[in-house]
Order: sequence, then C-alpha cells, then structure tokens
Amino acid sequence: MSTLELPKNLPRFELGNGNRVLVIEDEDLIREMLVLALEEEGYEVTAAVDGQTAWGYLYTPDSNPERCQFDLIVLDLMLPQVNGLDICRLLRHQGNTVPILILSAKGSETDRVLGLEVGADDYLTKPFSMRELVARCRALLRRQRLNGSPEPQVLQFGDIILYPQECRVMVRSEEVNLSPKEFRLLELFMSYPRRVWSREQLLEQIWGHDFVGDSKTIDVHIRWLREKLERDPSQPDYIITVRGFGYRLG
Ligand code: CA
Repeated sequence: MSTLELPKNLPRFELGNGNRVLVIEDEDLIREMLVLALEEEGYEVTAAVDGQTAWGYLYTPDSNPERCQFDLIVLDLMLPQVNGLDICRLLRHQGNTVPILILSAKGSETDRVLGLEVGADDYLTKPFSMRELVARCRALLRRQRLNGSPEPQVLQFGDIILYPQECRVMVRSEEVNLSPKEFRLLELFMSYPRRVWSREQLLEQIWGHDFVGDSKTIDVHIRWLREKLERDPSQPDYIITVRGFGYRLG
C-alpha cells in the first residue's frame, strides 16, 4: 500500500479535537519523532527536554494545580534532574488527573508496576512504533472524554442526522439501516466534515491495525454508504472522491 499525504492547504483545525499533549523526553530524536507523529494526528504538542522545563509548562505562577492545561502527557521515565516517576507522583499528589503515558527504555515488570503504581495510565517500552504510540494516546484521550465531558448527542451534516449513542441515522427525515462498519465510517466522516481521509487512514480508524486485506474494502463500503445516503449514488453530494487522496464528506 502506498502512503498518501493530505493536501497541505487543508484546514487542520478539526483534527485531533484540539487536544493538547505535553511530551517530556530528553532524547532529541525520539522527542522530535513524537512531536511529528502527534502533530500529524492533529494534536497541539508542547515538548519539554527535561522535568524542570516540563514543570514550568505544567505550572505557571497563576495556574490552578488541579486543572491541567494539557489533555495528555507522554512522559519518558529516565530524565535528567527530575525523573519521570517523580513527575508522575507529584502530579497525582497535587490531585492532577491528566492521563499519563509513560515511556521507558527499561522493560522490566518492576518499572511497569512502579509506573502504574505512581499513577500512570499506560506504559510503553522502547523501542516502540509511532503507530502504537498514537493508538495508545488516542485510546487514553477517548477514555478521558468518556469519563469527562459527554459525547455529542447528535451529528448533523446537510440532510443527514446521526445519533452516536443510539447508533441511528436519519437521511431526509427517514431512518436508514447501516451496518456497524458503515455506521462507524459515516460517524468518522461526520465528526470531521470536509477532512480528506486516505483509504489507509480509514482502514486504520475503522478496521484497526490488525486488519488483513486491502483498501478495496473501503471502496466497497463507500459504495454501499452512497447507495443508502445519496439521492444519486453516481453523482454523490455527500461522500466525495478526492482523486489521488481518498474520500471526504461534503
Ligand atoms: Ca530518557
């Protein structure tokens, strides 16, 4: 499968839901790769090279210690000055509940247990793939969202209304029956109107990393979705083919 790039002039503001991520990592190469991967995912990323710098980002003189200005922290364990475990412990001690993903070069069970004991939410051992990291971050943010602010009740685009919690879709005031995969595809499109998705991105989002198959699967599901949503599936108004890139809604 070829890697397709998004056109550079697309608005990026819908991506990543504006989540702010703090990356604390002293190794330059890993830090830069983390920043790139997370920015690509649409997150607003701040990077710190050591614990003290991170602390400065976390706690400005007038900040409320219980309210973090970040939605997620990616934290290396072995850092100069203040180490990752201490940062984690301090944050939790102050009542800060921001999700924390710990990175460590060590892979022993003791580190893992220690990391989780001091209040980290997840743990990844180096070397790790950026895909894996992004998937873990996404899961932590999703979990946080479920515990925190409620999910949107209704998504609307043109004549389509989607009720995420009821798994129901209305098109021009009539209910349509979608398969679970079709529903999730549509929900993804409607969550990011006009964002262009490559077939590979759609496969990853809906089918997951473990899916064995090719991107033709996407084309087939798009065709089925169009048959259910569009007035004229051969001249779609909603799910538009972006030649050379993939699909977008609207
Ligand atoms: Ca380190």
